[in-house]
Amino acid sequence: MVLYILEHGLPLDEVMFYDTGMEFEAIYRIRDKLLPILASRGIRYTELSPPVPFLYDMLERPVVSKQKGSHFGYGWCGGVCRWGTTRKQQTLDAHSRGAAAVYIGFAADEPHRIQGLSPPKCAPLEEWGLTEADCLSYCRERGWWWLQASPAAEGGYIDLYDILDRVSCWCCSNKNRKELKNIYTYLPDYWERLKAIQARLDRPMKAYQNKRYGCYGRVEQLEEVFEQEAESEKVR
Ligand code: SF4
Repeated sequence: MVLYILEHGLPLDEVMFYDTGMEFEAIYRIRDKLLPILASRGIRYTELSPPVPFLYDMLERPVVSKQKGSHFGYGWCGGVCRWGTTRKQQTLDAHSRGAAAVYIGFAADEPHRIQGLSPPKCAPLEEWGLTEADCLSYCRERGWWWLQASPAAEGGYIDLYDILDRVSCWCCSNKNRKELKNIYTYLPDYWERLKAIQARLDRPMKAYQNKRYGCYGRVEQLEEVFEQEAESEKVR
């Protein structure tokens, strides 16, 4: 969206990036590539972050809930329990209060997301008729790739958009089975990080029944299944 705005000379005076602290390395590289472009055009760049580290909220914050009583940490973020998204929205809303227009990068084929927007928030990608796939092609045609180091990929790097349906936080429990298997296969460092989080949480990463994302269990259980699948693929 930012690239399109710049290329078409549309008004833009500030770009906000909300850093959860749980982004893939590729996201930070994309940010770093964009910064000098914004600076050369005099566009203000603002980086926002949660008031406390994401992992503190996830694992350590004292919490009292009706279901579990007193415990520590909100646990996995995703599904109906997107506490990280709530924090992000609150922070971005507070920062952009009073702005004449706030552009949100929802694509034309994300009507369920766009529905919830009200002025000054708007979705210019929808107005331009650009779908998610259009946006990805647009970026790639201009040399923007979400390259992530991967010991299993040819050349040592893989584009996150080739293995994930959505590039969100690496610890997002919305990730589906295919995405999780790709993280296990291509991004072993991140897989180890997921296991480390799971080791500190009782609730399985994919515990809750969710029509869209399914229910698969704990990260180490998933790993056993993926290992078996990898073994049988070798035999074939
Ligand atoms: S991407 Fe997932 S983990 Fe990150 S804030 Fe959103 S719901 Fe939470």
